Amino acid sequence: MKRAVIYITLLLLAFTGAMVTSSLWTYRLSMQAAMGNLKTAATNMAVNLDFTINNLGIRKHYFQRLVSSGDWEAVAFLSLYNREGVVLLHSNVNLIGLKAKDPYVQRVFATGIPIDHFMVLGTGEKVYVLDYPLHYHREGKLETEVLRIALHTYPAMGVVRKARFQLTLSLGATGVLWVLTFLLIFYIGRSIRMERQLAEKERLALLGEMAAILAHEIRNPIGSIKGFAQLLLEKRRGEDPDREFLQTMVEECIRLEKLVRDLLYYAREERLTLSSFSLKELVEECIRQNEGGGTRFSVDIPSRFILVSDRNKLKQILLNLMENSMEAMKEGGNLLIRARERGSRVILEVQDQGKGMTPEIQRRIFQPFFTTKSQGTGLGMAIVKKLVDQLRGEIQIKSSPGQGTTFHIEIPRELQRERPG
Ligand code: ADP
Ligand code: MG
Repeated sequence: MKRAVIYITLLLLAFTGAMVTSSLWTYRLSMQAAMGNLKTAATNMAVNLDFTINNLGIRKHYFQRLVSSGDWEAVAFLSLYNREGVVLLHSNVNLIGLKAKDPYVQRVFATGIPIDHFMVLGTGEKVYVLDYPLHYHREGKLETEVLRIALHTYPAMGVVRKARFQLTLSLGATGVLWVLTFLLIFYIGRSIRMERQLAEKERLALLGEMAAILAHEIRNPIGSIKGFAQLLLEKRRGEDPDREFLQTMVEECIRLEKLVRDLLYYAREERLTLSSFSLKELVEECIRQNEGGGTRFSVDIPSRFILVSDRNKLKQILLNLMENSMEAMKEGGNLLIRARERGSRVILEVQDQGKGMTPEIQRRIFQPFFTTKSQGTGLGMAIVKKLVDQLRGEIQIKSSPGQGTTFHIEIPRELQRERPG
């Protein structure tokens, strides 16, 4: 999937590149063509006017009439300057005789070469301007004047406008293409993920079923072996050397029984059974089951805390946590269980003064079969995690070696009944 996304993105990039380049190219070409057209038209006019002015002389209303006749539709204005910058002729007669030092005109006087450029008129219109030198003899002297031809760019720029439109359009189209492609990738990715999750869930369910069957089959023989070993143990009193072996057999059987029980518990997919109960009473019940060892217990839970949840599952969670804590406090210590509310949720804390955990152990603690104990099954915390998930809760660990461990469990105070489906 990742690779496909990379390929599609590369393809899209190449396509976008080609599209934009070609549109930009068209735009540039059409710009050049438009400029060429303007230049040709202006130069043609300049040559014509050069000839006319040279032969007919200067007449005041000549330019005005030319422009207003409508024959030269593209012309914005015409003007003629002498070296001093005085306007000799202008299509706007009112400007004749004024003096204006224009840098372009000055440059044409200096170099004798025509210059073209753009200029913004008082009306805000941008026009194309050709400043063209005219040479002729007057009273035996060679004189130079500069003819300015200003053309409307509108007609010539039509093709440029089309090219610009095409550029915008292709940019827009590629943008839409990008968005659509990524939406598609997103949805395909999501459906693949969902399919995988479903397959994983089915696999786990199957595995659970197998484990359950296996555990069930193993349970009875273990029971018999343990029973007979205990019987033999009772028969051999005193210093019989076989007693030690029999004792080991019984202990190993007990360990196996626990493993089978945990495995069954972990593998079985049990539905939630909701009831309302007092959290404090539940905790005290769990403590009663574990009293007698070297652990002191303290409880800090308001008696008014009534939960609606699965009592058995919560009890299993507490028992597993307490078991671990007591195993971590072999030398004795205090186990504190407290609860407080946060909005519609309850935060339950189980805090021990045991040996604590390294970050590596904390990272792996919920993995099934992860254990650091020679007699451990490694299923206790995996079961806790599974049950907390079922109760729609979250679990966090705060621990460091030698500093004890605190488990934070946050669960909803009132678990809603699952909707069917
Ligand atoms: P088991 O108890 O059979 O080893 P668990 O899943 O209950 O398996 O725990 C996994 C591991 O997490 C334990 O072996 C232990 O190293 C660590 N652990 C769990 N709870 C505690 C605790 N309260 N203090 C220190 N270590 C703990
Ligand atoms: Mg355990």
